[in-house]
Amino acid sequence: MAFSPLLNCWNQLFTLLVHSAVHRIAHGETMIINGCQVESDTQVDCDVCIVGAGAAGITLARELQQQDLKIVLIESGNMQFDPAIDRLNQGEVMNEAMHGSLQVNRRRQLGGTTAIWGGRCVPFDESDFVARSHVPYSGWCFRKSELVSYYQRAHEHCEIGSYTSTPIDLLPAASRNRAMIPGLCTDELSTNELYLFSPPTHFGQRYLSELRQSRQISLFLNTNCLQLITTDDGGTIERLQVASIRQNKFSICAKRFVLAAGGLEVARLLLLSRQTHANGIGNQHDLVGRFYMSHLNYRFDVQFIPGLPIVWDYEKTRESIYCQRAIALSNQQQQQHKLLNHRVFIERPNVANPNHKNGVFSATYLTKALLRRQTRDLQGQRYDQVYGKANRFAHALTHGQNIVLGLPSVLPFSYKLLSKRLLSDRKLPSALAHNRANFYTLRMDSEQVPNPHSRVTLSSQQDCFGLNQLQVDWRTTEQDVQSIERSMQLIGEAFRRCIVGTIAPLTDVLLEPQGGHYLGTTRMSSSPSSGVVDENCRVYGVSNLFIASSSVFPTASYANPTLTIVALTIRLADYLKQGLAAPSLHFSAYPKR
Ligand SMILES: Cc1cc2nc3c(=O)[nH]c(=O)nc-3n(C[C@H](O)[C@H](O)[C@H](O)COP(=O)(O)OP(=O)(O)OC[C@H]3O[C@@H](n4cnc5c(N)ncnc54)[C@H](O)[C@@H]3O)c2cc1C
Repeated sequence: MAFSPLLNCWNQLFTLLVHSAVHRIAHGETMIINGCQVESDTQVDCDVCIVGAGAAGITLARELQQQDLKIVLIESGNMQFDPAIDRLNQGEVMNEAMHGSLQVNRRRQLGGTTAIWGGRCVPFDESDFVARSHVPYSGWCFRKSELVSYYQRAHEHCEIGSYTSTPIDLLPAASRNRAMIPGLCTDELSTNELYLFSPPTHFGQRYLSELRQSRQISLFLNTNCLQLITTDDGGTIERLQVASIRQNKFSICAKRFVLAAGGLEVARLLLLSRQTHANGIGNQHDLVGRFYMSHLNYRFDVQFIPGLPIVWDYEKTRESIYCQRAIALSNQQQQQHKLLNHRVFIERPNVANPNHKNGVFSATYLTKALLRRQTRDLQGQRYDQVYGKANRFAHALTHGQNIVLGLPSVLPFSYKLLSKRLLSDRKLPSALAHNRANFYTLRMDSEQVPNPHSRVTLSSQQDCFGLNQLQVDWRTTEQDVQSIERSMQLIGEAFRRCIVGTIAPLTDVLLEPQGGHYLGTTRMSSSPSSGVVDENCRVYGVSNLFIASSSVFPTASYANPTLTIVALTIRLADYLKQGLAAPSLHFSAYPKR
């Protein structure tokens, strides 16, 4: 072939470039490498190897670079979303009507799932960390006070301004003195709860230049961890076997390995690594993949007293961070009625219900209904449950009426959407709208009871590397449902007693898991017989393997997970820095704060 000398020449040049890249890593020079270009059987050496460049992986790399360490960060995806790589997220879901596909709410790209997250940030409550007699398997290895200084630093990574233990103080005085629901005066409920919103920070884009400039970090894109290889006794990880989708296998050797591949993939990697541990690494007590939790969402309609000036929209803190008020039954009430932790906040109305009288929402609903006739979402199903399919035609007419009458508000609303949500760096979290009738949708986010029968395992289906995909069997319990019903009932009674509004009667509680919240599959515990990692996030039975992920959460709280993932990751970074700075490989105890 006339082309072959040219091709050979090109191949040699290519190999030279990759060899020089590996040499530069060895000498601590930074770079971003495409795993496709690494020659098979290459070995890369470093101090710390991190698997996954999402919120956890990038945070860990950023924190560790403050020390003189060679860090290799490997990421399955590229800079941008690539559908071919994303297919590696495929897996089986036992109850797809409830749980949703494994590809929808995860992203294989630099920045991981923060490429599509909503940015809602809130720390766990003190009560989330303690053992509660009515919540089986509850209790962390430490109290919230252990995490406070890490939450402060996590606020910086997530770009949500200052941390305080009383977030309502972050509001300007005029807003702070305004009650969320005037007249709702009862000790049973707290209305001083606040969510903060990240811009939302896309960790891959936001910290890319820092990763590029770092002298310590080498970022391998398009590089998949296939399995962890241990020493013969199984007690230490020797190297990772990795490959790009070109199937060129190479190795990463390190003193410490950290799995930061997301709450489901971390469990999968442990289960797949069976070279010395027959059931997978860390799985000597059959716990890897069990206790799989998400957050439960339940939406309900509320009619506030007409004219009552409730706070229904997002506000801004003194540092111009978007925030949103929330309601919760007090800790004492939760204990007394044996309830799970939760928050309730005002959400965009159920667009399917024309009572919202909003032209934009009606137009959104009709467009969605036309486009998605075949695959109706849970909100639509719930609408049918409450209002009945027969009413759909009448409601379509009312939606049409809303659109015509709402035309004058469409322009200002569209302007708000465009300027504050689409064109702004710090985005308005979503479009809420004032409702003249004071009729709103409230959403409850609730924790789920840790349940060993809710689990992920390996399926018989394989990915393009011949590795077993995941099979997800996500389950809820009677206690989950009863807690939501009882909490709603108590909140409704308080609304009625204080004459602020009425909550629509509960129908069958249809629970939705919060997409993208994958918790508990490698839970933390003070004993290897009841958990996969110890209080330092180190996998039991393996001296140099750690996990940075929501998979270590023993209980879920109601709170969105990312802020706590980032806080725990910073804590892990401090621990690793201390261990690696020491002359021996011995790890000393955590510095107590
Ligand atoms: C629509 C949506 C909205 C959300 N909104 C919020 C919110 O408002 N607030 C909140 O707190 N959370 C929210 N989340 C959840 C949030 O996105 C996650 O908690 C967060 O991204 C988890 O970070 P992580 O680093 O643990 O995992 P990820 O961000 O998923 O990153 C894991 C990385 O590991 C890589 N990886 C996986 N397997 C391998 C492998 N074998 N080898 C190499 N690399 C691998 C992946 O490609 C990925 O880049 C939302 C999620 C979704 C889907």
